[in-house]
Amino acid sequence: MDKDRFILEVSKLGIDLTDEMLMKLDAYYKLLIEWNQKINLTAITDKKEVYLKHFYDSLTLVRVIDLNKEETLCDIGTGAGFPGLVLKIVFPHLEVTLVDALNKRVNFLQLVCDKLGLDNVECIHARAEEYALKNRDKFDVVTARAVASLNILLEYSIPLVKVSKYFIALKGNEKKNYSKALEVLNSKIIQIDKFLLPVESSQRTLIKIEKTGKTLDKYPRRYAEIKKRPL
Ligand code: SAM
Repeated sequence: MDKDRFILEVSKLGIDLTDEMLMKLDAYYKLLIEWNQKINLTAITDKKEVYLKHFYDSLTLVRVIDLNKEETLCDIGTGAGFPGLVLKIVFPHLEVTLVDALNKRVNFLQLVCDKLGLDNVECIHARAEEYALKNRDKFDVVTARAVASLNILLEYSIPLVKVSKYFIALKGNEKKNYSKALEVLNSKIIQIDKFLLPVESSQRTLIKIEKTGKTLDKYPRRYAEIKKRPL
């Protein structure tokens, strides 16, 4: 989508983009393209596509949560920063933690933060389930897009969430059954929001989950165990 359509569609989400935010998104786009030639960050490089499938798509999170009322957000498996870094640019008050298992991507994220002068962002090189061991009950909102199936993703993410706060998965279409994972991890579905992306009408689903009680100490398990016996 071109810039004018982007601004229009984002305003329909209830977000008024300032000149500064637009400037930062543009600088982020340029760095993404420049660094994508050196390290694998994204298969989507056309400017209109990046604005639709990365920037707009990241911002759709606000369909299910008012981020103005939240303080801390952790994006696990953030890759080149989606949705976490886009959310930081547009909601600068948020303290954002970006976690990814691939160090090259984390170095890229740090570079973008430095060049754009973003403060209160932590770029962490770690597997989410390992990071969660020492960062339990820490975040108001945990997000993940395109990282794993939901039964696995819940084990990575729910330990990080404060009790009574939220994990939100950005999905195309979730096929795996995750009811056992919800139960074992003391969490429940609050909202499932299905909608179509503008312009190309592809399916998106936001799954908002509340952590209702403390996570048992035995979760998250080690990756090998999660993979062998997913919840
Ligand atoms: N969220 C980004 C997006 O939507 O563009 C990146 C998606 S990419 C398909 C998946 C990313 O998740 C990769 O960067 C990978 O390194 C990371 N990842 C997968 N499993 C992970 C884990 N357990 N902990 C941290 N990062 C993980």
